[in-house]
Amino acid sequence: MKSATLSAIALLMLAAQLQAQTPQAENLVLVTLDGMRWQDVFRGADSALMKQQKHIEDPKLKEKYWRNDADERRKALMPFLWTTIKGKGKLIGNRDLNSNMDVTNNMWFSYPGYNELLTGQADDARINSNDAHYNPNTTVLETINTTSGFKGKVAAFTSWDCFPFIINDKRSGVFVNAGMEPSKSLSLTEPEKTMNKIMAGLPAYAGTTRPDALTFYYGLEYIKKFKPRVIFFSFDETDHFAHAGEYGAYLNSAHATDSMLAELWNFLQTETQYRGKTTLLITVDHGRGVDAEGWKHHGIKIPDANQIWMAAIGPGVEATGEVKNSEPAFQKQVALTIAETLGVKHPMAGQGINLSGKRR
Ligand SMILES: [Zn+2]
Repeated sequence: MKSATLSAIALLMLAAQLQAQTPQAENLVLVTLDGMRWQDVFRGADSALMKQQKHIEDPKLKEKYWRNDADERRKALMPFLWTTIKGKGKLIGNRDLNSNMDVTNNMWFSYPGYNELLTGQADDARINSNDAHYNPNTTVLETINTTSGFKGKVAAFTSWDCFPFIINDKRSGVFVNAGMEPSKSLSLTEPEKTMNKIMAGLPAYAGTTRPDALTFYYGLEYIKKFKPRVIFFSFDETDHFAHAGEYGAYLNSAHATDSMLAELWNFLQTETQYRGKTTLLITVDHGRGVDAEGWKHHGIKIPDANQIWMAAIGPGVEATGEVKNSEPAFQKQVALTIAETLGVKHPMAGQGINLSGKRR
């Protein structure tokens, strides 16, 4: 090879390295909706499945979410996604338009999915159950929390109580508030005091997983008080109601989460630290099956439960709306995408999803 070609390659590599380290956003919010299917996000409510309301009936379900036009239908279900993000961001994973996103782990359930999306690689040998054991792998949250300027500025609010283990809060130092955990802040705000009382008064059948609305509003109070640079919200109800076979409640949860995302996004735009400097990424840990029974389940035995999606908006995200005919994207790229968006060095930098549309 000629030396001119070699030096051109060296220059390109240097440019790629510089780009990987150039921050595009100063803050980032990552949100997951456990097991929310791409089929419902991109096609809207499924008329056949809407009949599946057993114990939790909503007589207004059809009125709320059914529209004959598919664009209108999905917008009725998730208006923030299909107005604000479609207009100013990007949505990946509509297989009807040849935009695929998949998990690479061979488990297709929660802990392996969160491990893959947070650490940048599947680990089927060690992460193959949902048991509460400390993750031996390093998440991107931990990497960011050890980066200058981010230390103590990374937090996670999660409905599922397994996250202190997934994020390994003991080792990583990342602040994690999970499950039925009240706010233990030294200076409680009035909303926090009220939420702590509500949590203490919830009936035992609510179990160890926290209602998503409490997870969200605890996190929002934390943002107002401590101004983290990176915050992770993990919501659980979509998965919970899907397993219960309650499609109506599943749709209502997706709709409620979309509305919380709108509230969060609008709040961020009122704060100097966040306005115009914060990127929002929304994705899932796994997909679910397709037919009248399959949609309730996931795991390696359920066809198509490996299929996932992602939405993004903010600095570093090209406003292309719904992605069509793209290169396939993978769950493991999410961690690297987060690092690249914030300009944080990561061992696998350069392999994230190209949200900016810039050459690299
Ligand atoms: Zn899950």
